[in-house]
Amino acid sequence: MIVIFKPEARESDIEVVRKRLEAEGATTRLSRAARRAILGVIGDIPHLARMPFHAMAGVEDVKLVNHAYKLVSRAFQPDPQPVELAPGVLMGQGQFQVIGGPCSVETEEQMRMVAQALVDNGVRLMRGGAYKPRTSPYSFQGIEEDGLKLMRKVADEFGLLIVTELMDARDLPVFEEYADILQIGTRNMMNYRLLKDVGRTSRPVLLKRGMSATIQEFLLAAEYIAAGGNQKIILCERGIRTFDSETRNMLDLTAVPVLKEKTHLPVIVDPSHGTGRSALVSPMGLAAAACGADGLLIEIHPNPSEALSDGDQALDVASFTQFMQKLCVLLQALQ
Ligand code: PEP
Ligand code: MN
Repeated sequence: MIVIFKPEARESDIEVVRKRLEAEGATTRLSRAARRAILGVIGDIPHLARMPFHAMAGVEDVKLVNHAYKLVSRAFQPDPQPVELAPGVLMGQGQFQVIGGPCSVETEEQMRMVAQALVDNGVRLMRGGAYKPRTSPYSFQGIEEDGLKLMRKVADEFGLLIVTELMDARDLPVFEEYADILQIGTRNMMNYRLLKDVGRTSRPVLLKRGMSATIQEFLLAAEYIAAGGNQKIILCERGIRTFDSETRNMLDLTAVPVLKEKTHLPVIVDPSHGTGRSALVSPMGLAAAACGADGLLIEIHPNPSEALSDGDQALDVASFTQFMQKLCVLLQALQ
């Protein structure tokens, strides 16, 4: 249920309604759109819906939200909302951001080469996995805390922000020390305890679509994070499993405009995991920007043939630079 306030409603009117709902056992979240305050209400709705809202000062309307997700829906927040990644760094609503870097953090030299390529191309966000969710327990698992420390050192030197995958809430203290944006990977999109845990942090969360998740399940996963109090969520389409094995995954670009119809959250695309082949990253990355994505996640490695994971889909520095030049032209044309 949402309670929509009149443009002239006073803060004290909103506070009275909020307190009454909370006294009845509801949880509330406030958002603002087009001069109106909107109160999202989570709780035993039939019971709450009987409250005399129209007799309360400042209330314009009350609506039941029919879909299962509420806080991330456009009913609760009609305007697309940018997410503030760091002071002055926004993603969404015209602020297109590229996240670039290797699949796995390997060495300081590797991260420096990547960081230089990012800075040279005007990119602010560096990725790299320190804890890797590998399909086989015998594959390289990441260099863990050393990787986070190394990335922090390089990121600070080059003025970059770090995006890195959190697999286990037990690692949250160390991630809060070294990382700027927490990535929840495709395999953990339905790890509801983990989603609740990142919902309680103040770090922005990059939530990747589960490889077999429907749009509804994806939005409900985001709802878990929002319900915990963290509204800084970026959705990432990274390809889904289908019958065709020609590419690593089937990049579902339709998900971009579909998600944007349903949610105010920024939506980005990962054409690296979405295709699994470096030659397909540039065309699908450009296509993602053309269909309205707010950003891209691109795997880059200074020497893809030596990469410890996902070398087949990594762009080298020259290809990344070429790609960024095309992307800039496209983004200008789309303005
Ligand atoms: C990654 O981005 O490093 C990754 C493992 O991606 P995904 O969770 O989409 O497979
Ligand atoms: Mn990878």
